[in-house]
Amino acid sequence: MEITSFEQFELNRQLLNAVAELGYTEPTPIQQQTIPLSLGNHDVLGIAQTGTGKTAAYLLPILMKIKYPQGSAPRALIMAPTRELVMQINEAVSELGKYTGLRHLALYGGLGPKTQIETLRKGVDLLVATPGRFMDLYRLGEIVTKDIRTLVLDEADKMMDMGFMPQIRSILEIIPTKRQNLLFSATFGGRVERLSAEFLEAPVKVEVTPQASTAEMVSQVIYEVPNFRTKINLLDYLINKDAFQRVIIFARTKTTAENIYKFLARKVVETDKIRVIHANKGQNTRINAMDAFKEGNVQVLVATDVAARGIDVAEVSHVINFDLPLIYEDYVHRIGRTGRANHAGAAITFLTMAEEYHVQKIERIIRMTIPREPLPANVEVTETPFDEQQAMLREIDEQRRKDNPEFMGAFHDKKAKNLPPGKARSIAQAKETGAKKPLSRTSGPRSGGAGHKTGGAKRSGSRGGRR
Ligand code: AMP
Repeated sequence: MEITSFEQFELNRQLLNAVAELGYTEPTPIQQQTIPLSLGNHDVLGIAQTGTGKTAAYLLPILMKIKYPQGSAPRALIMAPTRELVMQINEAVSELGKYTGLRHLALYGGLGPKTQIETLRKGVDLLVATPGRFMDLYRLGEIVTKDIRTLVLDEADKMMDMGFMPQIRSILEIIPTKRQNLLFSATFGGRVERLSAEFLEAPVKVEVTPQASTAEMVSQVIYEVPNFRTKINLLDYLINKDAFQRVIIFARTKTTAENIYKFLARKVVETDKIRVIHANKGQNTRINAMDAFKEGNVQVLVATDVAARGIDVAEVSHVINFDLPLIYEDYVHRIGRTGRANHAGAAITFLTMAEEYHVQKIERIIRMTIPREPLPANVEVTETPFDEQQAMLREIDEQRRKDNPEFMGAFHDKKAKNLPPGKARSIAQAKETGAKKPLSRTSGPRSGGAGHKTGGAKRSGSRGGRR
């Protein structure tokens, strides 16, 4: 039977009213598949990323089953890897459970447990928690687990990436074995498969193909950029364009995120229009930044992957990957921040030669080649400092070694005289001339591309106008 409306699920009126109020007219594919299975008490393995409607897919059946407030111990537990995601799921519970009166609570670290403990003591029906905080409060004797009948692991791949496996195992040991389990993950690989074997009982696998749908909704482009400074110049140029109304800039590390923020706040964007979030920022700062961004008061949000996990903001006009994530699935998460709920979005990736390796892996995951465009003429291409050049070459060596353990290293493990003539010359040259005559790119799949050349291709041009 084809499911085209929420009325076709056996949900109660309270839930249907909430769904209608949220403006959901038709269940998304993951909801069409998951809701009947979950209502039928099956264990479910859901392969779906954020943006597919997976949260409501598992929440609606849970809310249906726990129905109304009862007793004081939680009857359902939802685990998620980050506090942002926990907060967001908890907000979805508030919205979907609006007419049920169910008591729910988000448990996460980064702030004192006092308020969370007080709320627990008053009685809750449903908990949304990060594994760490859940275990902390359990050990303090504040969580009674005996009534938990449903367990959801959301973004299970991310939880494993973040090293939460030991905590998850501890949690599985302290909750009743007779329960329903649902596991959601953006990706499905060996690890998730093993976890699901350990954790789920005769699960039904449901899968939506987010990669394809994300790729359809989001226009993606790569600019080949020779170095950090030119990335900054390109950012400067882009942010000044009118279309860049609500932008998330992703950076791999806290330091890079801070540097981007400082540069933009100093020179490009008014300070009250830009925020930065990463793990070193206090909880309140992060919440305020996200709220301001959501409300449209902030044009640019600079974020690391972990901090941005689960951000649900409609109408993000552009996602900029200042660099590529090392957890390749995060690329899908990143670009999924734009192009949500049928809005067209754009994802722009800045790529140095040392990142070619990563983009190939990402393209394999998303099953497409991301188109490349030449750098806009107005962007100044600065020369690559010698140290940065060396660091990139070293990185490329390491990447080759990863794929081929026999690889001895073309760069720093060998003396130049032992290398093939071309390479020996270029390394000797680089050492001699320092930053003045940096190496040109000698390898990689797209060596024809213009952007990575780091040699004297200095292009002068006017900088983009500043606001
Ligand atoms: P999620 O994948 O759970 O992060 O949800 C992504 C966004 O889609 C959220 O803003 C939800 O409110 C929204 N959403 C979920 N289900 C539906 C639906 N059936 N129709 C329209 N929007 C939905």
